[in-house]
Amino acid sequence: MPGLFTLSLKKALIAPFIVVFLCSVGTILWLQKQRYDDLALDVSEKQLSSLTTNVVQSLDIYLDKPMTAVKALAHAIEYHKLYTPNDAAKLEDYLRSSFATLNIQSPQIDLMGFGGEQGEFLAMRAAERSAEKVKFSLMVKDSGTNGDLLIYADDHRGSDILGNIAAYDPRQRPWYLPIRRQHQAAWSEVYTNADAAQEVTISALAPVFQSDARQRSLVGVAAVDVQIDTFRQFLAGLNVTHQAKVYVMDAEQALIAQSDSTTILDDLGQRRLLTNSKDPMVQRISQAIESLASKQSVLLTHQDEQTQYIMVSHYQTNTQINWYVVVVISAADLMGDIPVVSQQTLWVSLLLGLSGMGLGIFVLNRLTVPLSETAKAAKQIANGSWDYPLPKRNQITEISQLLQSFSAMRSHLQASFHALREQLVRDNLTKLYSRQGFIETCDSLKVQQNGCGAMLLIGINQFRDINDSLGHHSGDVLLTIVAERLKAWVLTESGVLGRVGGDEFAIYLPNLSSQEKLCYQHRLKQIFAAPFVVAGEPLSLNISIGVAHDCDNADMCLRNAGIALSHAKTDNNRISVYTPVMAEQSKNKTRMLTYLRHALDHDLFEVYFQPLVDIRTGAPFGAEALLRLRDQDGKFISPLSFIPLAESSGLIKAIGQHMAADAMQTVNRAIEQGTLPPQFQLHINVSVIELSDHEYIGQLQRLLEQTRFPAAQLTVEITESQLADNDPVILANMTKIKALGVSIAIDDFGTGYSSLAYLHKLPFDSIKIDKAFVDRLTRDNADDSVVAAISKLSRSFGFSLVAEGVETQVQAELIRMLGCHHAQGFLFSPPLPLEQWPSLHWQQEPNLEPTT
Ligand code: C2E
Ligand code: CA
Ligand code: CA
Repeated sequence: MPGLFTLSLKKALIAPFIVVFLCSVGTILWLQKQRYDDLALDVSEKQLSSLTTNVVQSLDIYLDKPMTAVKALAHAIEYHKLYTPNDAAKLEDYLRSSFATLNIQSPQIDLMGFGGEQGEFLAMRAAERSAEKVKFSLMVKDSGTNGDLLIYADDHRGSDILGNIAAYDPRQRPWYLPIRRQHQAAWSEVYTNADAAQEVTISALAPVFQSDARQRSLVGVAAVDVQIDTFRQFLAGLNVTHQAKVYVMDAEQALIAQSDSTTILDDLGQRRLLTNSKDPMVQRISQAIESLASKQSVLLTHQDEQTQYIMVSHYQTNTQINWYVVVVISAADLMGDIPVVSQQTLWVSLLLGLSGMGLGIFVLNRLTVPLSETAKAAKQIANGSWDYPLPKRNQITEISQLLQSFSAMRSHLQASFHALREQLVRDNLTKLYSRQGFIETCDSLKVQQNGCGAMLLIGINQFRDINDSLGHHSGDVLLTIVAERLKAWVLTESGVLGRVGGDEFAIYLPNLSSQEKLCYQHRLKQIFAAPFVVAGEPLSLNISIGVAHDCDNADMCLRNAGIALSHAKTDNNRISVYTPVMAEQSKNKTRMLTYLRHALDHDLFEVYFQPLVDIRTGAPFGAEALLRLRDQDGKFISPLSFIPLAESSGLIKAIGQHMAADAMQTVNRAIEQGTLPPQFQLHINVSVIELSDHEYIGQLQRLLEQTRFPAAQLTVEITESQLADNDPVILANMTKIKALGVSIAIDDFGTGYSSLAYLHKLPFDSIKIDKAFVDRLTRDNADDSVVAAISKLSRSFGFSLVAEGVETQVQAELIRMLGCHHAQGFLFSPPLPLEQWPSLHWQQEPNLEPTT
């Protein structure tokens, strides 16, 4: 059905296959990804927790030493009474000796010092560090420094002064006040050093007390400075070993240390604030810190070019530290080879899947190709082509069977088809082409040769009679002999020969030159000249030939030749060449024939009567019944145009019967009614076609019985020209008609050229002299006229005469003068329906004479 969605078998099978494959691959990929993500999250949590713990522990250790050191310093000052206001000498010695050991143990410790309540300040600082030794620098502010903080190049007061900070008061420094207030060891805020190095520093601080007998009072604050930069180096180590980035920041989210080498200070020398960063990852970390609340730590993932896993943790101590530790590790670093391996696994499985699919498609192809080929072969058969190549074998049993069965089926079908076609294109009896075969062969030949040639249609005259008289078997034998003779000739002419009807042979001569066209008639006559011997009896055949030239196709050509043949059968030469006029005539004939059948079925024929009069009295003694038929418009159609057609079609038998019955009944009724005299003579016209029918006499006899029409008052008119053929049946029937008591008139006498000898054999009662002879009569030629001669004959042979077509008084007189007493013609009356007869008024005429 057009418009309906159709799919080839191959696609129908392969499409779902591919869809399932793609779905499976997609699902596997998705699951793999999901599993990978879960795994990454799990691993990252463990890794980051462990790293965080590592960092926190390191911080603990890192910060523990300075805190312990500052507490120990505070304790030593109090215990050993190292502090004397405004005299730093004792403390200076202590610091010098203990800082050296401390700095070697804990290199992160940068400074160890003491700020007193009196505003003095004493500290030892690691000034230069080299591989072998550390150079210490003394920092002093006391009564001897004039309020400045002096920084010596070495660890004693005699050395060069590297710099001084004027009006330095430790009590004003941010690390001092909180300790003074809370009396407890603690860490300072992270701050940037006041000196030129601007190092980020945090100080472990402890209050220093002095106790005497009365009380224990605060005398200053001990400080141990740690340079955060040293912690950065530790973090950088982690970065190298774990590819992790670590950030440490205070409660305000200002960076304290980070694992990479960049500075934590901004352009203004301030520590960078996470909250100020534009980096989306840092922003995310900042938000996480804000939302951390009571939780110790949180795990985040951040997606930029690749996934980053981030752990943000709180770092708090009871020594005032409230920091955050952030560890960041990228998925690539975290998972190492795992993604590559899983990708490889994926590629391998994809490759395997694809090869599986390839194999599947290959197998499906092997399955579907023979099926679609078979379907194509079936389609080709439907289009009339039998030789579409089919694969012979297939590895799959069922398909192999299907292919073999289909092949066998096709062969059988082809054989039956050919047999059937043979029946269609060959005539069984003569083995010549049938009509169908003939047309097809001619057409193919015509196309090949692009020529015109001639089409001859040969009909055997009176073949039906031969068939009837010799029997059908002999008829068949005769046809085969005719076929053989024609074949011998046609073969030499490279023509095509076929039997296209019972007794019709068609010959197509494609290569006929115009000169040769004249010869074939002669050649055919020769072929049929020799008698045909059937059942030991020689038989001579007459043929008619219809010829057609230059037609578009064989079918048309054959039809035209058929029309020409119909013509030829009525032609004296027995040969006709088709002209378009013939086709028109033939069409008219067909139309007329249809109308005649219709008229017979619907009783449209009428009977007119033309009086036969005695010239001497002018009174009618009888009438000739003449057939009348009107066309659809009510106009009369001449019997001369439809009688021959009725004769050739055989319809005349029925029409004749109908007409005779009608005429006899009408006249009988008129006689019974007394409008016509009792001895009224009725002439009816009978065609030789009717007369040559074996059943005619029986029918006439029944008609006479049924109508009770007196046979003695009936005359049958038979046209002389139709009697020309010396037919024994006609002669016998004429005798039988006479035997019934019915008279016979020879109609249109003088036109048929019958020999007197033959006429003499026929049983007839009267002769009707044809109008042509009456017309030629003049007063001058009357004595030498044909009418005069016939009149003489009638007297010696003893038959009566009727002159036809008398139109003038002169003709009437001359005829009468020549001894012919009966006449018919317009002078007396045209043919009329009986009720319109004026002669009905003459019926009472006393001197009505019977025919002589
Ligand atoms: P036909 O038998 O010779 O009939 C006489 C024809 O001459 C009629 O023509 C008639 O009308 C015509 N005729 C009579 N007097 C005159 C006249 O003075 N002048 C002229 N010019 N014509 C005259 P119609 O009726 O046309 O018939 C023509 C032919 O048709 C008949 O010739 C006859 O052969 C045939 N026919 C008519 N009726 C029948 C019929 O029932 N059966 C058969 N088999 N043939 C019939
Ligand atoms: Ca007549
Ligand atoms: Ca006549």
